[in-house]
Amino acid sequence: MSGFVRLKPSYDLVIVGGGHAGLQSAHKAALLRRSSVVIDRGPKYSRSYYAPRMANIPGFPGGISGHHLLELQLKAVRESSAWASYVAPARASSAEKTETGYAVTFDWLGQTHRVEGRALVLAMGVVDRVVEIGGKIDPIFPWANQAIVDFCEICDGHDLAGKSVGVIGHDAFAARTALDLLEFAPSAVELLSHGKRPLAGVADEERLELERRLAEHGIRWQESEMVGFDEIREHRFGVRFADGSHRSYDRGFSALGWYDMHDALPRSLGCRFDEEGFVSTDEDCRALSEAEGTAIDGLYVVGDLRSGWNQVPEAWSTAERAVIHAWSAYL
Ligand SMILES: Cc1cc2nc3c(=O)[nH]c(=O)nc-3n(C[C@H](O)[C@H](O)[C@H](O)COP(=O)(O)OP(=O)(O)OC[C@H]3O[C@@H](n4cnc5c(N)ncnc54)[C@H](O)[C@@H]3O)c2cc1C
Repeated sequence: MSGFVRLKPSYDLVIVGGGHAGLQSAHKAALLRRSSVVIDRGPKYSRSYYAPRMANIPGFPGGISGHHLLELQLKAVRESSAWASYVAPARASSAEKTETGYAVTFDWLGQTHRVEGRALVLAMGVVDRVVEIGGKIDPIFPWANQAIVDFCEICDGHDLAGKSVGVIGHDAFAARTALDLLEFAPSAVELLSHGKRPLAGVADEERLELERRLAEHGIRWQESEMVGFDEIREHRFGVRFADGSHRSYDRGFSALGWYDMHDALPRSLGCRFDEEGFVSTDEDCRALSEAEGTAIDGLYVVGDLRSGWNQVPEAWSTAERAVIHAWSAYL
């Protein structure tokens, strides 16, 4: 796709989100000779944009950065300009059912636009919560960008063998994450509750069980608030605390859960959510309805937004399943 994108009023598929799942949806639709428009806020809002080295991507035995992988996927979509249009930076604000499919309203180049599609693919992903230091989230970015602080145990756990790890978080999720990381044989694990009371608000039975298991594995809490990080030159996660103390770890690990699960559009279309807040779908990635639990015609949810494993190959496979189903059923 060279030059300026000329929007059409309607496409076979409207795809909201141009991360790994949304771009693969457009690429697959183009291979099946169906038109699509990808409405995307931009790569820097993709979860993987800040993943410095992905080790599980087939064809890249030395690993590849999420940034580079998105570029390659975008290139494939741009090469299919006869079928696929990529519109960015554009933010979808609403979606509605129409007589013939779906309509999506979005902001692009300072104007509000509306496109229609016979089917709709939601691929907005989710957004990680990032630790705040003095009210700012950027202090940890340099450590995250160099993979000294990780966010995803099934992505990066393999890199923790023999290393000391400081796990950021104070709740049951953080405690369970710290215990899960033992699977990867780190040399030591500590929890950094960042000024919060560990396991505050967790029901007694669960709290006692977590405390027992943490003690059994020698996992202790550092409760003082974090005020800054250092040792990046040594490629370590150094943490300065409000009480004046300092700890140094081989790696940090963020166990703070999600900041935004992008539930507004799927909720407005009547989707059902699982207990963690991800959209429930059937095997073909058709969204299930909140009311009956049956598949909603022509509405697909793929990638991290969907209930499943948050991984790039899963984003691709859900995109493939959704588009092949849409092609055979609606397009
Ligand atoms: C630090 C880190 C390391 C990771 N490492 C690995 C790894 O090694 N291997 C692996 O398989 N996975 C890894 N992951 C997970 C992987 O990044 C995700 O599974 C993958 O990005 C999901 O793809 P997606 O398309 O569903 O969502 P994303 O890639 O997050 O893309 C979502 C897209 O939707 C767009 N968007 C959101 N809302 C709107 C809106 N309203 N309108 C328009 N556009 C919108 C955003 O701009 C973004 O481009 C890692 C994640 C993190 C955070």
